Amino acid sequence: MHEFSIVQALIEQCETLAAENKASSIQRVDVKIGVLSGVEPYLLQTAFDTFKENSRLCRQAQLVLQQQPLIGQCQQCGTQQEMRGFGESCSTCEDKLLTIVDGDALMLMQLEMDS
Ligand SMILES: [Zn+2]
Repeated sequence: MHEFSIVQALIEQCETLAAENKASSIQRVDVKIGVLSGVEPYLLQTAFDTFKENSRLCRQAQLVLQQQPLIGQCQQCGTQQEMRGFGESCSTCEDKLLTIVDGDALMLMQLEMDS
């Protein structure tokens, strides 16, 4: 399953960061999920709760998910706006296509750790 490999990578990333900060455990993991990332929040939560049992550092961690809307930016005038899909044009100068700047990926935002 897609979400399982994402969670494995996420937990590895958390463990690396905890080790770098000499933390004894991780309490909270904040993750941003872009609407276009293709990740199902419910499945990600379930996968995280399954995998964290095998991680000494993440065992008590709570996964907090934040949905990130798709944000596009106009190359012409720099306007940023929320998009409903690909190929949307700028609301200010209209005929320019927007470049996606956020909302298409899954990103680790923040960790709460105990030292
Ligand atoms: Zn524009």
